[in-house]
Amino acid sequence: MSAPEALFRAGEVARRVRAAVPSIVSPGASLLQIAEKVEKMILDNGCQPAFPCNVSVDSVAAHYSPPPGDTSTLHRNFIAKIDFGVMVDGYIADTAVTVTDTAVGEMLKTAVEEALKAAVRTVAAGVKVSAIGSVVQNVLTRYGVKPIRNLTGHEIQRYNLHAGVSIPNIAAGEGAKLQEGHVYAIEPFATVADGFGEVIEHRAATIFRLWKTFSGPVSSPESSLLKTLSERFNGLPYSPRWLTDLGPDTLSIHQRLVKTGRVKAYPVLVERLNKPVAQAEHTVLVEKDGCTIIT
Ligand code: MN
Ligand code: MN
Repeated sequence: MSAPEALFRAGEVARRVRAAVPSIVSPGASLLQIAEKVEKMILDNGCQPAFPCNVSVDSVAAHYSPPPGDTSTLHRNFIAKIDFGVMVDGYIADTAVTVTDTAVGEMLKTAVEEALKAAVRTVAAGVKVSAIGSVVQNVLTRYGVKPIRNLTGHEIQRYNLHAGVSIPNIAAGEGAKLQEGHVYAIEPFATVADGFGEVIEHRAATIFRLWKTFSGPVSSPESSLLKTLSERFNGLPYSPRWLTDLGPDTLSIHQRLVKTGRVKAYPVLVERLNKPVAQAEHTVLVEKDGCTIIT
């Protein structure tokens, strides 16, 4: 499969999975089952999850993927962000959708979706990332909601989810410009007007990533697990859920790798004033005069 073919295939599956998400996200649903169903749909379509499915609820903006044994369920009056990645041969389509049963949630969802549409219309080779951020901020402001200023979109490269340039959700960012042929995820996040408009790190991490390829000798349970992580995930983010086939001691060995800083932990990101957050996200391929929406 050629590079664009793999990317387009990933995008096609991402769209299909996203369309099915609202039907599995409703009050009473288990967060763990939502994540597992999304990941299974990706696998059933012949692709790989590029990272653990995020199920971030209410003021949790991002980076919550239910850990093994998670028993939490969705309550009424929720706003959930389901964020997932589809990978084909290392090429990644990153997308997210907000599902909610409240009026405030619907308003936030509309605002981020309209901000994303406007941002995508602005994308072309040579456009400054700050111009994209400015468009996002303007649309969100028009809806009377607040951008989350310290969450951004990002460039995507093969086997590299967060590569190079960031795409801000406010008029910020240095002179960086979008480049033809490059792939970017654009992802507006917003909270209500009386939110802080910023996330803070909260609660234990549920998503991890190996810093670099493991090349040392396998001389201990820790180094053996490092080698497996390196081979299995190619430096991409993973959930401890994806390690449970490796035997009963694996999660405690993994915990030691986290404590000693051998693997990177992504803390859960929560709105500073605990206000509800919505997100929309597309992956785009930048062209000379515009872009193709991959997702
Ligand atoms: Mn995403
Ligand atoms: Mn992303």
